[in-house]
Parts: sequence; C-alpha cells; structure tokens
Amino acid sequence: MMRIGLGEDLHRFASGRKLILGGIEIPSEKGLLGHSDADALLHAVSDALLGAISCDDIGAFFPPSDPACAGIDSKEILRFCLNKVKEKGYRLVNVDAVITAESPKLRPFIAPMRESLAEVLGIEVDCVGIQAKTNEGCDAIGNGEALRVCAVCLVETEEK
Ligand code: MG
Repeated sequence: MMRIGLGEDLHRFASGRKLILGGIEIPSEKGLLGHSDADALLHAVSDALLGAISCDDIGAFFPPSDPACAGIDSKEILRFCLNKVKEKGYRLVNVDAVITAESPKLRPFIAPMRESLAEVLGIEVDCVGIQAKTNEGCDAIGNGEALRVCAVCLVETEEK
C-alpha cells in the first residue's frame, strides 16, 4: 500500500539568527525565528511524514511551550517522525519540497540541502527533490518577512 503526505511550514525572518534549512547553515543576513533551530524545510518534511500515516503534527510531539524543545536540532524532530513511519510498517520512498523566499538566493544550496536531507532520511539523494522560488514581491514572503516551505512525501508498506 502507498500513501502520500503533505506538510507546510512558515517562519518569520529575524536578525541575529542563523539561517538553517535542510540541516545546513546558509549564509544570510537574517535567520528564521523559532523555538527550535527554525528549520522550516525539516519541519515541513516532518509534518509530511506524519501526515502520510495520518498522525498528529509535530507541534503535538514537540510543543513550543516545552522548554526541552528550546533550540532543538530539527534533525532530531525529523528522525522522530521517520521512526513513526517505520513503526507503522511503512518505508519512505521519496520527498519533494518547494521553498518560497525572496532572499537569500537558495540555488547554490539546493545540492547540499538535498544531500543533508537524504542522509537524515536514509534514502538516496535521487529521491529528494527541493525547488526554491520567490513570491514575486507579493505579500509578507515577497517583502522578505518570512519563508514558507511546502513538502510532500510518498511512503509504502514493505509487503505489496
Ligand atoms: Mg516550524
């Protein structure tokens, strides 16, 4: 059996924060604001994984109100969600994500982000798609105030 999952995340940009996306640091004047390391890409993929198995979202397992989650490495969140998928008897086939942000230009970092994500997920780089686009100057994302990520994943049971 195959199932798909969809996840989305948005974080505001703020000064004095590192920009972490897909588990790597990207040179940027501003980073994303959040209780964890604010890795919106890993959060969207994490929620896509949970969505594929009709599970609650990451906010339920890693509540922003929990001091233990402060500054948490989002790779930990992603590994937790991948384990949930495995516990349900599924394996991850592929993930695809779209990052929307006005700046910085993310194209040079697509390859390292795909490699980083593939490593955490235990799948081939070939099975990780990442696209980056701008919002053409529209709304808060277009004004450079925030970054959004939309991600989908496919999971399947081991036995066909
Ligand atoms: Mg988030």
